Amino acid sequence: MNRWSLCLFAVLFALVPVSTSRSLEPPKSDAPLQPFGPARQPGSPNDVIRSVRIQAIRLADNEGWRPANIDYSQFQAWVDRANVIFAKAGLRFEFDPETGGASTLNSTLPNSNDGPAGPHWPQVWATAREVAAQYPGRLVVFIRYGPGPNPTSLGYSGTDFNFVMLPGFHEAFDCRQPNFNLLAHELGHYFGLAHTFGPYFAKRL
Ligand SMILES: [Zn+2]
Repeated sequence: MNRWSLCLFAVLFALVPVSTSRSLEPPKSDAPLQPFGPARQPGSPNDVIRSVRIQAIRLADNEGWRPANIDYSQFQAWVDRANVIFAKAGLRFEFDPETGGASTLNSTLPNSNDGPAGPHWPQVWATAREVAAQYPGRLVVFIRYGPGPNPTSLGYSGTDFNFVMLPGFHEAFDCRQPNFNLLAHELGHYFGLAHTFGPYFAKRL
C-alpha cells in the first residue's frame, strides 16, 4: 500500500463517524411510518449537508511565465473525486468557472513557493492569506508552479490555513498515473485530518 492509499484511508476512516452519527438521529416528527424504499446511495443529493464553493486560482510568475499546468477539466476531475470521497461526510464541493470560480494571478512569490519549510515562507503565507481573504464564502485553492526549473509535485494545507496549495495537474502523479486524489487529500488537511502514518513519511505531502 503506497502513501497515497494510506492518506486516502485516513480521509475515509476519519469521516465514517460523521455519517454514522447522523444515522442515530431520532425521528423529527410523529408522522405515520412510510414503507421502506430502496436504500439511498452515499452521495445522493439528499445526503448533502453543506455545499462548499471553490475558488481555483492558477498562479504564474509576475510576467506570466511559468504558469501552473492545469485546465478547467483537470481541476473538475479533482473536484469530482473529492466529492466521491467527502460524500460520506455530507460535503459537496462546487467548482464553476462560468460564475467566476476560476481565476489567474501573476505573482512570482506565491507561484514559486516551496511550502512552510521553504524560503520566504512568512511573505508567502501573508500574500496567500491576503489573496484568499478576497474570496469570502469560498474555499480558495491555489495551483502553483514551484521554486525550481521543473514544476513541483507537492501540495499542502492545514487547519490554520485559509487556502489549499497544489501543484499542476500533471505534476501530481501516483504510481505513474494522474493522482486524482490530491485535492481530496489536501482538503482533508484543511479540515483537520492527519495522516495515519508516522515519522517515516513525515516529509510534506
Ligand atoms: Zn498529506
